[in-house]
Amino acid sequence: MSDNLVIVESPTKAKTITRILGDDFRVVPSMGHIIDLPAKKLGVDVEDEFKPTYTVIPSRKKLLAQLKKEAKGKKNIYIATDPDREGEAIGWQIKEKVFKGKNVLRVSFHEITPHAVKEAFKNAREFDIRMIEAQVGRRVLDRLVGYFLSPLLWKKIARGLSAGRVQSVGLRLIVERERQIQGFVPSEYWEIAAELSKAGVAGESGFRAKLDKIDGRKAEVKSEAEAGRICDLLKGREFKVQEVRKTEKKRYPPAPFITSTMQQEAFNKLKFNASKTMLIAQQLYEGIDIGEDNPVGLITYMRTDSPNVSVEAIAEVREHIGRSFGKNFLPEKPNVFKAKKSAQEAHEAVRPSYVGRFPESLKGFLDRDQFRLYELIYNRFLASQMKPAEFLATAVDIAAGEYLFLASGSHLIFEGFLSAYSKNDSVEKEEEEEEKEKNENQIPPLAQGEMLFLNNLLPSQHFTKPPARFSDSSLIKALEEEGIGRPSTYAPIISTIILRDYVRRIKGYLYPSELGFKVNDMLVEYFPKVINLSFTASIEEKLDEVEEGRLERVKVLQEFYLPFKENLDFAQANIVKEVITTDQVCDKCGKPMIVKWGRRGKFLSCSGFPECKNSKSITTGVKCPIENCGGELIERHSRRGFFYGCSNFPKCTFTSRNLPEDKEGGQEGGPENAQS
Ligand SMILES: [Zn+2]
Ligand SMILES: [Zn+2]
Repeated sequence: MSDNLVIVESPTKAKTITRILGDDFRVVPSMGHIIDLPAKKLGVDVEDEFKPTYTVIPSRKKLLAQLKKEAKGKKNIYIATDPDREGEAIGWQIKEKVFKGKNVLRVSFHEITPHAVKEAFKNAREFDIRMIEAQVGRRVLDRLVGYFLSPLLWKKIARGLSAGRVQSVGLRLIVERERQIQGFVPSEYWEIAAELSKAGVAGESGFRAKLDKIDGRKAEVKSEAEAGRICDLLKGREFKVQEVRKTEKKRYPPAPFITSTMQQEAFNKLKFNASKTMLIAQQLYEGIDIGEDNPVGLITYMRTDSPNVSVEAIAEVREHIGRSFGKNFLPEKPNVFKAKKSAQEAHEAVRPSYVGRFPESLKGFLDRDQFRLYELIYNRFLASQMKPAEFLATAVDIAAGEYLFLASGSHLIFEGFLSAYSKNDSVEKEEEEEEKEKNENQIPPLAQGEMLFLNNLLPSQHFTKPPARFSDSSLIKALEEEGIGRPSTYAPIISTIILRDYVRRIKGYLYPSELGFKVNDMLVEYFPKVINLSFTASIEEKLDEVEEGRLERVKVLQEFYLPFKENLDFAQANIVKEVITTDQVCDKCGKPMIVKWGRRGKFLSCSGFPECKNSKSITTGVKCPIENCGGELIERHSRRGFFYGCSNFPKCTFTSRNLPEDKEGGQEGGPENAQS
């Protein structure tokens, strides 16, 4: 029998580690938290330093007894949960509740490889109390908000609603963006392009120049008539090269992935939403059977905000780049990337755990999504240690009297990192299109003073565009820039507001629902001090300080609770039920019908309730696609998010995430059995 007991979170991780540690160690999964704040009470003493009362989660009592049994006769107990706040806290709870009085040590590693795991066991340590303090602080804050806000939402809008601290700020960003879009008035403008060629080679494939300046000022053409006038004038003009500028430009490789950039790129390139990316990354991290008896961990830990890479991994990847791409792709010294201020130095970027495991060689072992994410992580890591790409950019000023045209083009002279990773994640869509245009514009060799032949003038109409709706990718970017959210929270922020049906993901974009607008407006009106970007960012920063041991947990809680309590007292005294009237009349008693929200979504109710209990569904007017059903589709939501259901439920159980004509999209969770 083995002398040592090791506790990890999941069965897969247990298997992967068993393979590395051998028979002397018994590895057992804990499946996440065992204790938590009580489900039905506040569980926090706001009068006494916000002390939390933790209780064993009822469904975990059996497991707790099992773990106690496992510990009998073991000399050493090791807790090897994930290497972050959450993992540290889960481990600590297990030590305190299950193994009190025993010899329990913490081991943490960022990748499940023989080297990393064995090193971690050599360096087994005591628990990091500061990390646990930060986690408890976050849990208590979120509990205070959830516990006190929900009843107010019930009072004003509908029973069963809830609101979280950080998610509400995410919702606010989405609602405010939607209002900007709704309020946007597009304005017309015109662009004028000239198709030119070297004199004497008229008709040959020309190049394009755009009208840039008029009389030395930025050209602004507002109407078709104005564009026409300018074109008529230009037809008689001489076009003459005024200046040719050639510059060499470098584009530097991106840093290896951290959680936020991985989520953004997996969305942009693979169309994975943030939760899906994290789920697959976790599978790759915990271990996958690749024909070597037991699972093997393929990537480093997926929750990280540090772009650091271990010395060994750098040596490995440089060796590989030199051999596979050639010495000229390898920078003299390794590329170094700076972490954000809040990032933890000890953490590592998300990268393959072994560069020798080429994506192609794993094709038979990974499913399609696992393969694509692994390949993305792999190539991004390669690219991060390669040389910059080099371009030659050409800009030519061409004068036609007081009208100045600009021709720009660029071509690649050295591929560099682009040979491993196609695009830099910092290139936005519009920039990208502009770049493409430039690459396609073939400017012939031109000299100052040279006369050009005008082949054609091409005026085109445009309209200014409203800001783009958020996607998973751009929302995560915005949250990160605002200092809100951390590696472990980006994905849950989005999935939570979608599951509550405050936001709907339609064709990859995030739209607030009617309910989302209502919840947000109430929170912003009554909790301006708390549901606020800069305040939330400062609280996140203070939790980081708790983790660094520079601030006490109770200080952060006080700093949050005072303004919160002020808003809360006012809200509790002033919030009243909102009545949304309609022009429909009750067909039983003649009173007006009003809109109400229930557990399953919006419906019409008689304003004479409870005397008259008449109620009606609000249908979308779209027919149920089930043959001979005759029902209409209704917006509904359940614990698993938003969906469309049939008005003939329970006779007809048709459900769909989208209206039938709308094939794409994709919501969090599934509509399956959602009505039960
Ligand atoms: Zn009625
Ligand atoms: Zn139906």
